[in-house]
Amino acid sequence: MPPYLIEIYVSIFGLFIGSFLNVCIHRLPVSASIVHPRSMCPSCGSMIRFYDNIPVISYLFLKGRCRHCSAAISLRYPLVEIISALFAFCVYLKYGPTWEGFIYYTFIASLIVVIFIDLDHQIIPDVITLPGIPLFFFATFFMSRMTFMDSLLGILAGGGSLFLISWIYELVRKKTGMGGGDIKLLAMIGALTGWKGVVFTIYVASAVGTLVGISAMLYRNKDMQLKIPFGPFLSLGVITYIFFGSEIINWYFKITG
Ligand SMILES: [Zn+2]
Repeated sequence: MPPYLIEIYVSIFGLFIGSFLNVCIHRLPVSASIVHPRSMCPSCGSMIRFYDNIPVISYLFLKGRCRHCSAAISLRYPLVEIISALFAFCVYLKYGPTWEGFIYYTFIASLIVVIFIDLDHQIIPDVITLPGIPLFFFATFFMSRMTFMDSLLGILAGGGSLFLISWIYELVRKKTGMGGGDIKLLAMIGALTGWKGVVFTIYVASAVGTLVGISAMLYRNKDMQLKIPFGPFLSLGVITYIFFGSEIINWYFKITG
């Protein structure tokens, strides 16, 4: 077998999953079915044929325009497909053909949907996080480094800690800070990565979120109330944990003695 053949297959699989994720990103917020009807051009409403719906390749072939009305197709479609393929490839490199790898990829794929929906609409859909909590709780059965107890503690830590933070924020600022969507997302994160994953995720998300918030404020009007969704930062935090968590934690405790 030629080298990297499986990695290439895995990446192509990731591209097609990415294509499905695009459908979820666009249809879940408007509660449309994700299987019906078939994809249409948002400008002219014409059906998109299967040969115009091949991930990335169709976009390049059509030069980013609808075959019928020439309306521009958002660059985000191929971008989501490529992100999905990259993660399929990276998860395979790190975890190989294991249940663990499959579960982590499923988890990351659902986070890709969460990230883009949160960026567009400032909501995190319950249809992902609510089933995600029990699903990833039971998924830990297939994972060597997690037990049901770890998962349960993770759900409590994730749901509980953000609930506490947002409650304090409300008391101090007299307005709602974080949405309930963030709390459910962090509970789902806890289900798969345990309380350590939750602590790591909040730490990274707050640090990166603060940096981005400050730079956004510097570039824009200072007293403008910025509404930066927190879901993408939580997602980036836990993805960092999945790939580099133990390395970063070991390194951190080494330099702090
Ligand atoms: Zn069109």
